[in-house]
Amino acid sequence: GIQARLNAISAITNYTPSAAPMNFAETKPTELFGCNVFNDKVMKDRLPKTVYKSLKKTIELGEKLDPSIADVVANAMKDWAIEKGATHFTHVFYPLTGLTAEKHDAFLVPDGKGGALAEFSGKLLIQGEPDASSFPSGGLRATFEARGYTAWDVTSPAYLLENPNGTFLCIPTAFVSWTGEALDKKTPLLRANQALNKQAQRVLKLFGTETRLPVGSFAGAEQEYFLIDRNFAFARPDLHICGRSLFGAKPAKGQEFEDQYFGVIPRRVLSFMMEVERELFKLGVPVKTRHNEVAPSQYEIAPIFETSNLATDHNQMVMTVLRSVAKRYGMVCLLHEKPFAGINGSGKHLNYSIGNAELGSLFDPGDSPHENAQFLVFCAAAIRAVHKYGALLRATVASASNDHRLGANEAPPAIMSVYLGAQLADVFEQFKTGKVNGCKKACVMNIGVDVLPPLPMDPGDRNRTSPFAFTGNRFEFRAVGSSMSIAGPQVALNTMMAESLDYIATELEKATKGDPAKLNDAVQKLLQKIMKEHDKVIFNGDGYSEEWHKEAEKRGLPNLKTTPDALPVLSTPEVVKLFTSYGVFSEAEVKSREEIYLEQYCKTVKTEANLVIRMARTIIFPAAMRYQGELAATCANLKAAGHDYKVVTLEDVTAKLRAMQAAVGDLEKKLEHEAASTHAEAKHMCDVILPAMLKVREYADALEAVVADDLWALPSYQEMLFIK
Ligand code: ADP
Ligand code: MG
Repeated sequence: GIQARLNAISAITNYTPSAAPMNFAETKPTELFGCNVFNDKVMKDRLPKTVYKSLKKTIELGEKLDPSIADVVANAMKDWAIEKGATHFTHVFYPLTGLTAEKHDAFLVPDGKGGALAEFSGKLLIQGEPDASSFPSGGLRATFEARGYTAWDVTSPAYLLENPNGTFLCIPTAFVSWTGEALDKKTPLLRANQALNKQAQRVLKLFGTETRLPVGSFAGAEQEYFLIDRNFAFARPDLHICGRSLFGAKPAKGQEFEDQYFGVIPRRVLSFMMEVERELFKLGVPVKTRHNEVAPSQYEIAPIFETSNLATDHNQMVMTVLRSVAKRYGMVCLLHEKPFAGINGSGKHLNYSIGNAELGSLFDPGDSPHENAQFLVFCAAAIRAVHKYGALLRATVASASNDHRLGANEAPPAIMSVYLGAQLADVFEQFKTGKVNGCKKACVMNIGVDVLPPLPMDPGDRNRTSPFAFTGNRFEFRAVGSSMSIAGPQVALNTMMAESLDYIATELEKATKGDPAKLNDAVQKLLQKIMKEHDKVIFNGDGYSEEWHKEAEKRGLPNLKTTPDALPVLSTPEVVKLFTSYGVFSEAEVKSREEIYLEQYCKTVKTEANLVIRMARTIIFPAAMRYQGELAATCANLKAAGHDYKVVTLEDVTAKLRAMQAAVGDLEKKLEHEAASTHAEAKHMCDVILPAMLKVREYADALEAVVADDLWALPSYQEMLFIK
């Protein structure tokens, strides 16, 4: 690691900020924020009134897009983009790889007389036709029909991405096959929001709550990441190719001093953060918070929550911008869930609520009896949903990389439970027992008459060990991996919520028969029933503890520890029924996702295993062997000089080298394996290959701890994590 270390040190010492500082006095926040977005203001200024109104109806009320306005919108978009320096446009879409995809086309069209015009038609705005054959479809698409199409998502605004050499217009789109099957992450999210709206409206109607706007989910994704000097990443094929270190001895210092969280941000990192924020502000992404995270060289960026579709697109943009700006600052941004063993990995806390701009969050207790009762019903719906479909929720965050994090005492366990906090748990307990007068403080549980005790918003002692925690006006789903799209968990959550609200609405409609006077009583009874059946999912204790694992098993809560355990949940009859009955996925669509994610799991582990073999043979073995040679020469010299000595170190190195070689051979053999199905292959990767990789690592890391530093080619954990 010597050369990489020297290069990194020089990169840090010679670093000068490359951009002018961000300055709200010179560039007003209002001028900066969203300046590269085809947003409401731009549309209002540039579109004819009728077109603007029609478009707004689609954006805000979810009404069908009137295709006749597309030409006008396209033209306005093109003029705006070209004025701001754009030459190309692209439909941006979100294939099942979890990445962001784009295909660029020039605005330039030949005029047939040797010249050219800038053109952009409504047709091109509404629909694109990328070749879909290179994106995973999990058997959804017959090979003779490789085409897919992208469809303009009017609800997520177009924006400009700037590059030093030119700018291009990005149009968020859904990506579907010609037979209409969703090949992406956006389509099901839009469908799940629709399903949620329908059922939420039924419940709101029972409460006499009126709203002009559709109900959907809100999301705020706190994004964790690592930053290390680029020189290190280039010298580490594992980080470079797999995003995580497959080798690396434990450093003398890890995160045990707890001196990193909220610590002073290193200056180069701070410059990077400000540049990231400036870029994101321009793109209308409301990033708000930045800080050091728990592990060395780990950080977090968090936006203000937005409607789910927008928040999801914006989180993809956050990831893209983090990666690209890091390069400019001589660093690399690692979004992998576990780049370094032995210290915390990175997750993404998905703050989740449902509601709309008029109603706010329906998970907000509010301060009137009416709001309280409604809140309790929505909250009960969430509890019931997580109890019924916890395994599904777990499956939505299953990946090879997230397996290293979940349940590793730094992230919630794979058991899905709900944290309510003592006060709210007490409230629900009273509903369950029917003892509505046993309340401690001033609260009387006769809903509709009295108000809830004020529930502390963001209490300081929030339980960080829970995967699904109530935090005052939302739930925080903490099991999402740092590199994942937040679409998947929201698709599941919204559909699960829709099912629970459907159940609740049906029960309450039956019990009240249209008589609002009967509502309180009916709610009281229903909450009791729901709590009796589903309060097993509520857990306020330490989710990392051994006792909880035992207790959860007793309660019958699933504990799906690995991806191959979790993904088959997607094709269980309950889950297929859930998704198909609310029109979120067809059976083929759900099953394709199971297949694709299992395939991705296998490919990931296989690539890592191959790299373990390659690195052990071509990087670690030679280093250790050179050291062995030096030791042997020293021994021979000492012997020649007549010294009495013991060959302890030489023997030690030799033994470790042999053991590593044997482990490499073993891993190689285990990779020659034919599985009967993708799932069987995934099981093999999980149960056989991953442990065999760890065996190689064990000896390699032991060698790193003894071999001379100047011979060890790989940058060490110590260098990568602490030179910043
Ligand atoms: P912490 O790190 O303490 O959890 P942060 O401030 O980092 O808190 O993140 C909280 C996130 O929750 C922010 O993205 C915030 O906008 C989001 N949030 C707040 N209220 C809601 C809500 N009603 N629905 C969804 N997200 C919300
Ligand atoms: Mg946070």
